[in-house]
Amino acid sequence: MSQQHNKSKCPVLTTAEGAPIGMQQAMTAGPRGPLLMQDVQLLEQMQHFNRERIPERVVHAKGSGAYGTFTVTGDITRYTSASLFSEVGKQTDLFVRFSTVAGERGAADAERDVRGFAVKFYTDQGNWDMVGNNTPVFFIRDPYKFANFIHTQKRLPDKNVRNNDMQWDFWSMCPESLHQVTILFSDRGIPASYRNMNGYSSHTYSFINADGERVWCKFHFKTDQGIKCMTDDESANTIAGDRESHQRDLFEAIERGEYPTWTVHVQIMTQEQADQFQWNPFDLTKVWPHADYPLIEVGRMELNRNPENYHAEVEQAAFKPSALVPGIGPSPDKMLQARLMSYADTHLHRLGVNHHQIPVNKPRCPVMHYMRDGHLATAETYGSAPNYWPNTREGAPEPEPKFKDPAWKLGQTIVDRYDSTEDHDDFTQAGNLYRMFDEGHRDRLTTRIAGVLGDARQDVQMRQLCHFFRADPDYGRRVAEKLGIEIPEEMLNAARNA
Ligand code: NDP
Repeated sequence: MSQQHNKSKCPVLTTAEGAPIGMQQAMTAGPRGPLLMQDVQLLEQMQHFNRERIPERVVHAKGSGAYGTFTVTGDITRYTSASLFSEVGKQTDLFVRFSTVAGERGAADAERDVRGFAVKFYTDQGNWDMVGNNTPVFFIRDPYKFANFIHTQKRLPDKNVRNNDMQWDFWSMCPESLHQVTILFSDRGIPASYRNMNGYSSHTYSFINADGERVWCKFHFKTDQGIKCMTDDESANTIAGDRESHQRDLFEAIERGEYPTWTVHVQIMTQEQADQFQWNPFDLTKVWPHADYPLIEVGRMELNRNPENYHAEVEQAAFKPSALVPGIGPSPDKMLQARLMSYADTHLHRLGVNHHQIPVNKPRCPVMHYMRDGHLATAETYGSAPNYWPNTREGAPEPEPKFKDPAWKLGQTIVDRYDSTEDHDDFTQAGNLYRMFDEGHRDRLTTRIAGVLGDARQDVQMRQLCHFFRADPDYGRRVAEKLGIEIPEEMLNAARNA
């Protein structure tokens, strides 16, 4: 029986290259086969199918996502110059991904586990990713233990099953895990839904204000739906009937127009307070007590739009603590410092070097840099623009000093971006080498240089000539002569006397 349906006004089916398809039946030599290699439509479909999956995240593999808005409700410009906080009422689009941590992509949503709470703010000065959890602390404070800890949450190497012995073996060897273990096994260990849990940066970050002053901060997202959790029985019953309970709940609530919201707060600690704190304030296994570091309200996060395609928007969403913006920086937290590298590295592995071009990850502000090419480059933001820096090309992007992070005193040393072109003698040794050359060598050297420098723009030639003159006036004079450039006598004298 024909499988043609009698649909009116439907678009014509095409190949991936856009060619219209007349019939979706295998092309065969006679009605009983075999297939023909020339049935490229079928081959294309099977090849694409074989490549549908991308590597799953080692942690946070199972997740749910939604778009929304952040609205500033409290002024914190005295602490940070971050543009998203610049004025009360300002709105910034965002994308959130909630997740379980330990389970694989098929994990049940209602399992006892920490939950990921990652927010991508599409700010007008770049994407800021707040990549936190629903708990204010973590199991470990040293990044060397992270991969080991996650192994204990996964499966036995031989039997391929989860195993409580290895989990408790690790925890019992790492007493710093006790705070988080207590939270995980408390009545808050199984959120009733993603809408009913708080989010925390857990890590300490830095805020830098317009005067370049730095304070330490933590972020808190308090659910306006109220904290609701499942008992162990409720969790077991939920999982028996629905492994996607939290995904379903979030999607359907937004579909109904019941947009979940969170009130966003920060805690602030000055360096003087950090010096006095009874523990290491950057230790990820500790909170800052509310009584000493009260929550300061800063805004409201609302989720109000579902993704249209789970794979494109949720599976490919790439959150990384290294996505920071002017006014928000890292802290010495060792776990954060390690995550600054490892999350970005994960996305390079899972999605490739151009993952920023995927719409869910794409900054909403102009993007200007000199990174080029790689897999699936669209060149959308740079086209034929220069691909090197420094340069003298009109319209090519330049760093803007007002966005430089301020120097930071760390013990006896100063952390800063030092200008490696300052206070350096770039000419004496080049000149010494030139002066070692005999007449013939000097002639050959300057002939070769003039041969290629002659192809450069005249202002480039002039700038480069100055360098030759600084190394040795004879070096400059010879190249200039061979370029046919006349150097005024006073310039030659200046170079001789330099
Ligand atoms: P506070 O009394 O000021 O804060 C207590 C906090 O505990 C509240 O924020 C409350 O959240 C939260 N809480 C209540 N029950 C649980 C639970 N079962 N699991 C996790 N959190 C819970 O005291 P401190 O600031 O000195 O903190 C004391 C302890 O509270 C900490 O050791 C930490 O375990 C936990 N906590 C502290 C946070 C902080 O940033 N200081 C943040 C979250 C938890 P809520 O207000 O939403 O009910």
